Amino acid sequence: MNIFKETGLNNELLRAVTRLGFEKPTPIQEKIIPVILNSSRDIIGLAQTGTGKTAGFGLPLIQNINIDDRSVQSLILCPTRELCMQITEDINSFASFTGGLSVLAVYGGANITPQIQSLKKGAHIVVGTPGRTLDLIRRNVLKINYISWLILDEADEMLNMGFQEDLNAILESTPAEKQTLLFSATMPDDVRRIAEKYMNKPLEITVGKKNAGAENVEHHYYVVKAADRYAALKRIADINPKIYGIVFCRTRNETKDVADKLIQDGYNADALHGELSQSQRDHVMHRFRNKTLQLLIATDVAARGIDINELTHIINYNLPDDPEVYLHRSGRTGRAGKSGISISITHSREGRRIKELEKMIGKKFIHKMIPGGREICEKRLFNLIDKVENVEVDESKIESFMPDIYKKLEWLEREELIKHFVSVEFNRFLEYYKNAPDLNITPDKGIDKKKKLNGKKNYTNIYINIGSKRGMNPSNLISLVNEAMRKRDIAIGKIDVQRNFSFFEIDRDYDQKLLNAFDSSIYEDQPVVVEIKNGKQKNYGGSQNIAAPGYGNYHSKSKSRKRTKW
Ligand code: ADP
Ligand code: MG
Repeated sequence: MNIFKETGLNNELLRAVTRLGFEKPTPIQEKIIPVILNSSRDIIGLAQTGTGKTAGFGLPLIQNINIDDRSVQSLILCPTRELCMQITEDINSFASFTGGLSVLAVYGGANITPQIQSLKKGAHIVVGTPGRTLDLIRRNVLKINYISWLILDEADEMLNMGFQEDLNAILESTPAEKQTLLFSATMPDDVRRIAEKYMNKPLEITVGKKNAGAENVEHHYYVVKAADRYAALKRIADINPKIYGIVFCRTRNETKDVADKLIQDGYNADALHGELSQSQRDHVMHRFRNKTLQLLIATDVAARGIDINELTHIINYNLPDDPEVYLHRSGRTGRAGKSGISISITHSREGRRIKELEKMIGKKFIHKMIPGGREICEKRLFNLIDKVENVEVDESKIESFMPDIYKKLEWLEREELIKHFVSVEFNRFLEYYKNAPDLNITPDKGIDKKKKLNGKKNYTNIYINIGSKRGMNPSNLISLVNEAMRKRDIAIGKIDVQRNFSFFEIDRDYDQKLLNAFDSSIYEDQPVVVEIKNGKQKNYGGSQNIAAPGYGNYHSKSKSRKRTKW
């Protein structure tokens, strides 16, 4: 079966599906739609997030509803307010040609009175969170004694969130003759128990591997000290200038804390958590959807309903206690055929938990190094250049300013001018990362050679007799070293530029080579002096010049601007 028509859906629904751009049913839709249309068997649907479960149950449900009867015929329970709204919206869009269908969302954290009033007017389908639904049942406003279809969506998540008792209470008051559909990405024991207790010989439909992580998600992890979590997060954001993702935190407070810091540090980020008012939440979600926000900092509960297919990353600010939660989180990216990356910021004793997750997902986690200042600066720089290259120039708007601007900059040659533009943005990052420490630490098992290399104790501290007075800055220094060593990937640690001299750290394996490379070199007609700080070796520059085009002293207006020699 590869077209919707063959599932048995009526013409109104087929039209809606076409309008939504659904070309063919997803595997779970293909399997469950005919069963719901043609039988009253209970069903357990096991499928990862993003597999189209909502249309899977929503479409046949609409077809089954008796529009002339205004009493509640179906109850859909799901874990969060966002999900309630989303399911309601989805069902309304499926019913856009059906006419007369009334769907109502009821959830906590919102005034109950309008929900009561709407319920009194009658609704065919009620979509609710367990807490508010139970409240409305107890107030006798929501009557579910005659429902024909009960749907438990994201059952595992509802139980994770502690809705067990509410669910039991609701399920107790449903009629015996009804069709129950339970959907879950995973099948932990407590979900299995609900199924055993409240379902009648359910048909189990599984799509894809149980517990499998989304195919096109890569799993990366970083190992840092707990105190460096935030710094690590920032570097991850900095090295991914186009990041669009969710950062998962454990608690509301942590969410607020991380978001506040990010906002203060100038990132496009905001928090989504339970303490926000409805309109605040909607506002945050609106900005996230239209990509004004690049990073949404959220608790699992708050992020539950978010259905955005283009997320590039999800970030576990800490590993969740429950592996199932990890699965849910990482399932937020890599959707709709796109690739995604699930990042975990871990500490050194979590190696075992990574192994557990690898086993559950059936995929290797990749150990990544927190990027250093230089790597980040380089990435940002090229991102900026890319932007400059591709920006749309609106001649008509800037035309009138240009003559004055040309005039003001006329004393700068083309290359100098480019350097100035680049430095405007770049100096901020350079300054910030000037003394940035290496944040990586060694995980429990298996010492990573590369990491040791970047480890602080493996640096040699070097003195050089050029300081800011002669135009030295971190960027120039890195260029100078790269050029001298004729190698770009040698780790450089802390850089400390003083007025008359500078210090910098270099990977210990290369310190001798560095001394040799600077041997006999000249910088602006003066010998370069390079020595190991507190060490014996010294190299005083002599007469031999090494060509180093373009680097160095472009701030100085002295004669040396034309070309620096060192
Ligand atoms: P799940 O509940 O399984 O996580 P959803 O029902 O939220 O998944 O669907 C995920 C996305 O896939 C939604 O954006 C939905 O509009 C889209 N979708 C659902 N069914 C189809 C289909 N048959 N063809 C294309 N896209 C679909
Ligand atoms: Mg769903």
